[in-house]
Amino acid sequence: MKTMKTWPLLLLAAMLFIAGCSKKDTKLPVSAEKMEAIVSPLINKDGTEIGKVTMSEDEKGVTISITAEGLPPGLHGVHIHETGVCTPPTFESAGGHFNPTKKEHGFDNPKGFHLGDLPNVEVGEDGKVEAQVTTADLTLKPGAEMSLLDKDGSALVIHEGQDDYKTDPAGNSGARIACAEINKK
Ligand code: ZN
Repeated sequence: MKTMKTWPLLLLAAMLFIAGCSKKDTKLPVSAEKMEAIVSPLINKDGTEIGKVTMSEDEKGVTISITAEGLPPGLHGVHIHETGVCTPPTFESAGGHFNPTKKEHGFDNPKGFHLGDLPNVEVGEDGKVEAQVTTADLTLKPGAEMSLLDKDGSALVIHEGQDDYKTDPAGNSGARIACAEINKK
């Protein structure tokens, strides 16, 4: 299962690499600029891999895809945290929310929001979730101020409860129940 999910992305990356090397670069500006997708394992509080987080970037911004199973049904807060270290069971190692613009938490907070704030995801009764969001506020370009791939990387964290989108610093979303490290390869 691991191999099957990873291969198409590797293949895509290889194709983009070949396109990037082509002498026809000028005719393929979009393909040549596309960056390799980053695929990170998502782990739960036991340290067990329960899914994947994929990040890719194009002219519209960074697209974050989450595929996981074995989570409690219902709405859960999801945020990008500032440090790319997921140490179970608390995941406190991931630090606070990714917040280079020094705002408060929450889309509905007048002093908000953190660039790492993301919409809640809904886990089905079967414990599975598949969610995708694209944000123009983030980048994967190393060195950029809004980059998720800064020196210490970043982490995607799923919380126990739902984010109320207004309470600083984490939307009253409770404990951290799953985490994926987002780091340079
Ligand atoms: Zn936040």
